[in-house]
Amino acid sequence: MISANLQAVQARIELACARAGRPKGSVQLLAVSKTFDAEAVRQAWSAGQRAFGENYVQEGVEKVQQLLAAGLAGIEWHCIGPLQSNKTRPVAEHFDWVHTVDRLKVAQRLSEQRPPELPPLQVCVQVNVDGGPNKSGVLPEQALELAQAVAALPRLRLRGLMCIPEPAPDFASACAVFGRARALFDALNVQGLALDTLSMGMSDDLEAAVASGSTLVRVGSAIFGTRHYPAPA
Ligand SMILES: *Cc1c(COP(=O)(O)O)cnc(C)c1O
Repeated sequence: MISANLQAVQARIELACARAGRPKGSVQLLAVSKTFDAEAVRQAWSAGQRAFGENYVQEGVEKVQQLLAAGLAGIEWHCIGPLQSNKTRPVAEHFDWVHTVDRLKVAQRLSEQRPPELPPLQVCVQVNVDGGPNKSGVLPEQALELAQAVAALPRLRLRGLMCIPEPAPDFASACAVFGRARALFDALNVQGLALDTLSMGMSDDLEAAVASGSTLVRVGSAIFGTRHYPAPA
């Protein structure tokens, strides 16, 4: 079932790429395994999936350790949940990527806490593209300054931008919001930042995200099914 779902999601990504005139393979699939157990990750891994996203630090670290102990090789773990600055250490120690850097303090701590024997932590700056006042993410007009400061930290490697817009009523309005993230991504590259990752699109809106230039879609329920336990605050 997980393997069939993965194939169906890959087919959606390929079709969206074809419609956008983008090369097949230009969009990476991140399987969001939050709330699902290590066995679900193992099944996806057996079907060839290697990149997994987790939202909650403790749950994520437990899965990382279980699957390491089970000998599953080559998994890339992405932290995609909101990060408090007092919870950065386990993330710096156990994850490969963090998509949700939205303040310099969090980035500085991740850089200081990244173990020297590991490669630099790959990070995206999270941008609040639809302007909700209570949402995580830096405002677009502050993104350049934060991105430049993050790029200068020794143990981080800035890879791009990430956004989680509100669900849009239709394809065109979804594209309009994702398009703002894409325009910002291009503008930061004009400033010399060399970003290669635009993390946007989920189960319900990945087509609009791919049409708008996403290079990485984060997909949970379309792969693993409905999530059953509520998200901890
Ligand atoms: C849960 C989550 C996803 C996956 O959402 P689905 O709708 O299940 O695909 C993607 N990104 C983030 C940041 C999430 O928290």
